[in-house]
Amino acid sequence: MSSFELHPERLATTDEKGKRVYLFPADVRGFFRTWRSRLQFVLIFFFLALPWLRIDGRQALLLDISRREFEFFGLSLRAHNAPLLVFVFAIAGFGLFFLTALWGRVWCGWACPQTVFIDGVYRRIERWIEGPALERKRLAQAPWTLKKLAKRSLKWMAFTLTSLIITHSFLAYFVGTDRLAEMISSSPRENWGSFLFILVSTAVILFDFAWFREQFCIIACPYGRFQSILMDDHSTIVAFDSKRGEPRATPQAKALAKTHNSKLGDCVNCYRCVQVCPVGIDIRRGTQMECIACTACIDACDEVMTKTKKPTGLIRYDSARGLAGKKPNHLRARPLVYLAVVVISAGSLSYALSVMKPVDATVLRAKDAPYELVGDTTVINHFKLELSNQSNEVHALTFEADRSVVEAGLQLITPHRPLVLEKGKVTRADLFVRFPKSLLKNGGLKIALAIEDSSPTQKKKETLKKELTLVGPFN
Ligand code: SF4
Ligand code: SF4
Repeated sequence: MSSFELHPERLATTDEKGKRVYLFPADVRGFFRTWRSRLQFVLIFFFLALPWLRIDGRQALLLDISRREFEFFGLSLRAHNAPLLVFVFAIAGFGLFFLTALWGRVWCGWACPQTVFIDGVYRRIERWIEGPALERKRLAQAPWTLKKLAKRSLKWMAFTLTSLIITHSFLAYFVGTDRLAEMISSSPRENWGSFLFILVSTAVILFDFAWFREQFCIIACPYGRFQSILMDDHSTIVAFDSKRGEPRATPQAKALAKTHNSKLGDCVNCYRCVQVCPVGIDIRRGTQMECIACTACIDACDEVMTKTKKPTGLIRYDSARGLAGKKPNHLRARPLVYLAVVVISAGSLSYALSVMKPVDATVLRAKDAPYELVGDTTVINHFKLELSNQSNEVHALTFEADRSVVEAGLQLITPHRPLVLEKGKVTRADLFVRFPKSLLKNGGLKIALAIEDSSPTQKKKETLKKELTLVGPFN
């Protein structure tokens, strides 16, 4: 039996005692390998470069949770826009469901950061330092020598440096590149939280990308677990054509074929598809939860088929129906429902954004006493304003109350007239309302507050209306 023959009931990455079997997937060349490498290069470049991209002077993509500031390619969202994130998550989530229903785990194999970084960066480093799969395996089994120590030290130093770069780029999406540059240039004592975050994140990335690897996909990834319920017989997956491939050329099958003068399948039983698999499975056993659809086995088998002068595609992208000689239906209900949710969410998000005002205001009563009495006749109410400029322009705001109450003696008092809002910033200000006690009815009064946006670059004057409830003593 070949050493690559897997146990029928055990995970490929565990031995008979349940201990981890470390994998050394062999290198592969071919059509999919070439295109995956190209895509990985583009994705890694974008991941590293995106935080440094500016649109109108603001970071193109920023998810600053602590300051509740979010930037999406020119669109600024603040804490009060949080409900819109539901649409963003629905588009991302159902978009992924749609992809899976049609093309299986194409995300895992082609674009998941776990696969992209392990395959595109960490395994490359490993290969440069320790050599191809067989040499790496020999080195792992060899006793500790100076040469092994040097290679291992170099590899782990390179891994650590790479993890640090990834962590810093990752952090830039959450704190912004300006704050990140500040943190890097200042002492850790001034940024203990961020310093610890970087240390822990680097350690987690190092552990996962350098050592844990396929175990994360098998044990921890929730998407890997529920992808089987998103797919059906029509979904395109990486699959072995058993009708064409079996009976594979095992010694027993060869003997039987000789005896009965029957034909063998196209699979020469070379185990090349198993050797290149980064999760260690044998695709000839059918669709398995561990398979991340990386296509390595397609390229490996195509190479073997070409050498044995047989048609390529013994392992290929196909659906269960396709393998059975039937036509898959891509316009079926399941992906269409997922697509409908994506379209509805995208439409709702676009509409919500199109009606979103450049300036938004929240008016809250201040936490001090509900009102202050000045002499016997005048009442003061104190409010807190939170004004958010969601546009790329500076806005200047003035505050007006109804003419009828102003004529009756009500005054709005703010520190600045106009109040200038810098682009993309949230500004907080105090608003005092001073009015004659005689305006109160049963200790209360409702007035309309008009926040007028008198930005000089704006052609039309915009007005935001807010209702204020004033309180005071009962007459
Ligand atoms: S690489 Fe192809 S021929 Fe070789 S064992 Fe796998 S399926 Fe069979
Ligand atoms: S079975 Fe093939 S597609 Fe699936 S993970 Fe292994 S090599 Fe990649």
